[in-house]
Amino acid sequence: MAKQPQSRRENDFIREIVSSDLLSGKHKTTVTRFPPEPNGYLHIGHAKSICLNFGIAEENAGSGARCHLRFDDTNPVKEDSEYVEAIKEDIRWLGFDWGDDLYFASDYFDQLYDWAVELVRIGKAYVDDLSAEEIREYRGNLTEPGKDSPCRKRDCELNLSLFKQMKDGEFADGEKVLRAKIDMAHPNLNLRDPVIYRILHQEHHRTGDKWCIYPTYDYTHGQSDAIEGVTHSLCTLEFEHHRPLYEWFVENLPVPAQPRQIEFAKLRPAYLLMSKRRLVEMVDEGYVDGWDDPRMSTLSGLRRRGYPPEAIRSLCKTVGITKHNSVTDIALLEHAVREQLNMTATRRMAVIDPIRVSIVNWPGDDYIELMNAVNNPEDPEAGKREVALSGELFIERSDFMENPPDKYYRLSPGSEVRLRYSYCIRCEEVVKGEDNEIIELRCSYDPETLGKNPPDRKVRGAIHWVSAKGAFEGDVRLYDRAFLVEDPVAEDDWRSVINPEALVELSGCKMEPLLKDALPGECFQFERNGYFCVDTKYSLPARPVFNRTVPLRDSWGKKNRVK
Ligand code: ATP
Ligand code: MG
Repeated sequence: MAKQPQSRRENDFIREIVSSDLLSGKHKTTVTRFPPEPNGYLHIGHAKSICLNFGIAEENAGSGARCHLRFDDTNPVKEDSEYVEAIKEDIRWLGFDWGDDLYFASDYFDQLYDWAVELVRIGKAYVDDLSAEEIREYRGNLTEPGKDSPCRKRDCELNLSLFKQMKDGEFADGEKVLRAKIDMAHPNLNLRDPVIYRILHQEHHRTGDKWCIYPTYDYTHGQSDAIEGVTHSLCTLEFEHHRPLYEWFVENLPVPAQPRQIEFAKLRPAYLLMSKRRLVEMVDEGYVDGWDDPRMSTLSGLRRRGYPPEAIRSLCKTVGITKHNSVTDIALLEHAVREQLNMTATRRMAVIDPIRVSIVNWPGDDYIELMNAVNNPEDPEAGKREVALSGELFIERSDFMENPPDKYYRLSPGSEVRLRYSYCIRCEEVVKGEDNEIIELRCSYDPETLGKNPPDRKVRGAIHWVSAKGAFEGDVRLYDRAFLVEDPVAEDDWRSVINPEALVELSGCKMEPLLKDALPGECFQFERNGYFCVDTKYSLPARPVFNRTVPLRDSWGKKNRVK
């Protein structure tokens, strides 16, 4: 078994509240929920919420805690069952399970409607004829109070019958809305008579054409929590100002439980785009080849790129739960990915940008010698493999320099380097083509240097290589960050800050023969290069395409410092 990172029990202000509610007897058990809207695929930001909600349930399983997966599907215009399935797959991949607790807010539409009728009946909701724009104008702003709509004084009976007519499809979209009657002068704008139902003649992915009015998110969310007996409703900071409204509904409706909303800061990794609205644009406008494009911040994209779920969970743990918004350095995520893959990825040799080497004193054209190579130094059980060396091989172009600086320990004219797991070679001659490009290095090898240093000299560098005999040519896709700036959403247009080198496609890379049978999704370390994962979309049997998950070292940080 590979080593696993040591886990420590997490603690944060939300977990403290959960524990003290159990201790004080306020709750006998804990119920959390992860409430995605099925209007896109999940991104890495969602992973933070998933780890928090499902994590708390797991940690408190002894007292019967559970975490619900509830789809908040109140806007039929943008939602789709494709997204429902993708979201489920991503949560499972991250390593969490909702058991039997799968719910849809749309299952509560009847109850929500009845409660809205109840609000009208007790004079706490009214049907308004104002247009969306007028409602905005009447709302006022932070310095000025709002103005009452002329419909605010409508009597209860008329409101009841108008609301029913709304439901029965007697009005067009936008002609009327149902609003909660709270306070048009409230300092919190969310309490200035918020809309709770709007007319949308639109089929819903689950309820079909049963409804032509749909409850708003604010109205639906807390009541759905209450119906399910959620004890702690954990959401991100932008909902802080919605909390009084959340509480107003729970207080004014005969709901079966009193959930408590608690907010925490979003995960916002630099150089990635997090908003689903923008991610939809990237997909629809063809900037990427789908939601699972490895340049995307989506969980399916990161999965296809080779990010292990353990690394994403580890990042969420490292970042922790606070009330302060901050940007997470992407290097932290990449570090977590490297740590995990270092333990699990099988080692192989591949030369991405090859240069040919011939060994001039090799015993014969057909002579092959098998070298012992380890499959994973971190995991003794991963065993060893044999790699064949012949008189022709490839090394990385960057492992040779014609005019090397001091302390260059790789290959240069007249110098020696070790071929990893094998002999030392010395560069005797550089063969160049017409355009002065190096086409071959002629080297000699020292048969006395297998597994040991020559007695009279020190060879410091060791480089990876692939024998020309038996090697196969493979495709490699090098990925880098999708955007050139830390916060692409802060730009006028995210399109102007796309990193044009976020994907570089290479073919003709030379690979160790064992890699030919690599399976889609399998992850490898290409020694000295980085971690690579077999692409699940473009690979064919015996013709794998490798996605670079992450280079071995944080070269980005260095590149930026040099600038
Ligand atoms: P986006 O703004 O990216 O479109 P969203 O908040 O509209 O995301 P939802 O489907 O409503 O997407 O989110 C489901 C849950 O995930 C919510 O509870 C939300 O607060 C949480 N969430 C969304 N983005 C993040 C993030 N970056 N960090 C932590 N939690 C998040
Ligand atoms: Mg949302």
